[in-house]
Amino acid sequence: MLQTVDVGQRSLASYQGVAPDLILDELRTAAEGLRGLRVLHLNATPYGGGVSELLRSAVPLLNDLGLVADWQIISGDAEFFDVTKKIHNGLQGAAVELTEAEKARYEQTAKANAAALTSEYDVVFVHDPQPAAILPFHGKGNARWVWRCHIDTGQPNPGVWEFCKAYLSEYDAAVFTLAEFVPPDFPVGRTEIMPPAIDPLSPKNMELADRTARQVLDWIGINLNRPLMTQVSRFDHWKDPLGVIAAYKLVKEEIHHLQLALVGSMALDDPEGWDIYREVKEAANSDPLIDVFTNLTGVGNIEVNAFQRLSDVVVQKSIREGFGLVVSESLWKGTPVVAGRAGGIPLQMSDGVGGILVESVEECASAILALLKDADYAKELGRRGKERVREHFLLPRLLLNEVSLVRDLVEGMPRRIAAGIEEHRDPVCGMAIADPETATRIDHDGDTILFCSDTCRTRFVLAPDRYRYA
Ligand code: UDP
Repeated sequence: MLQTVDVGQRSLASYQGVAPDLILDELRTAAEGLRGLRVLHLNATPYGGGVSELLRSAVPLLNDLGLVADWQIISGDAEFFDVTKKIHNGLQGAAVELTEAEKARYEQTAKANAAALTSEYDVVFVHDPQPAAILPFHGKGNARWVWRCHIDTGQPNPGVWEFCKAYLSEYDAAVFTLAEFVPPDFPVGRTEIMPPAIDPLSPKNMELADRTARQVLDWIGINLNRPLMTQVSRFDHWKDPLGVIAAYKLVKEEIHHLQLALVGSMALDDPEGWDIYREVKEAANSDPLIDVFTNLTGVGNIEVNAFQRLSDVVVQKSIREGFGLVVSESLWKGTPVVAGRAGGIPLQMSDGVGGILVESVEECASAILALLKDADYAKELGRRGKERVREHFLLPRLLLNEVSLVRDLVEGMPRRIAAGIEEHRDPVCGMAIADPETATRIDHDGDTILFCSDTCRTRFVLAPDRYRYA
């Protein structure tokens, strides 16, 4: 069985007054009639990076809306994740070539994970290239399959793209962050564009009293009497941490007491992280005012929240970017951002709203300097950025997009309980009932419903409406 990631319970009602009312109302309306629909989100890592960040919040809210949503992760060894990182880089345009052995490793792991996907779902969202090949090895079954691509695949490396394309053709739909990320000759008929979003109520983004935020940063050694610039991102060349250090050094020629914090997380599916971490440490070594933190040394969501809240400027000097959730995260806290003009970043901010877009180390340095020298201008950019995030980049908007797609995809599918009775399927786990004569059963609303086990029967009895959709 694939590993299921445990997520807590969440309530959409708690977003009232935080996210726009109209979006919350539309979301509830879109989810009507989907009660009991089983949705799986499948990705490669339970922590580190934007996808896991999103799923941790989205999956419990889908459950609150009445769907039965799970989050599962594939497993693979270090060699597999080396290959998928190469694929990730290749899909973003890097000059890499997959060897036959690497292709074989990717396929073997996909086959093993496909065999381990044993529960049944009505809709399966497969995130990014790591698990993408599961579909052809698993078969569609009765589900609708969606490939959710979070990276910029607009100009992929042709060899890597040819290899990946072959695994995608059976998907019912694909979702991209921006229209320009859809690769050439894309083999899936239906493509949707859905920018990601942040959860304003998560520990990373929730309100944090100024005093508490200060205590948190003070405790890890940040001197808040000095100006502070911060970049929060995985240690990845596309995020250009060395470029951030170079820009910082230029700004420091004028603002000598400037501090730089590089906050980076290590993800399970990102083996390059350690190499880049070492490069960053080396580049930072000579300067006592540069601090490098990681999630593995105790800098977690609350610390990131405090950094994004209290920095004078947040930097995201990406060269290539999917969306760049960190930009919306920082803007949500009213902090202005200086960021690379890459991927989904310009969608979140543009000159005059949120911060300043840059394309070189020099531009980055002069933008940081401009914000540090003019606090009123910086504050106004941050204020406008926050409003933009409220309107467009909070989680309920993304859920509305996704639930609307799910609705379209399952339109015309038979009601599962009815189908369950006919085909003798357990309505809770979806499994076929091998021996209907002896199966555990109950009478419900005039129907006899069969279950694979007492556990499923109990789950049904406790919440029958949950497993029924019209
Ligand atoms: N992140 C974190 N700690 C870190 C570095 C990053 O929690 O030390 C989070 C960050 O706050 C954001 C996500 O990881 O929520 C990164 O998402 P983004 O879309 O910016 O980039 P990705 O890593 O997906 O390319």
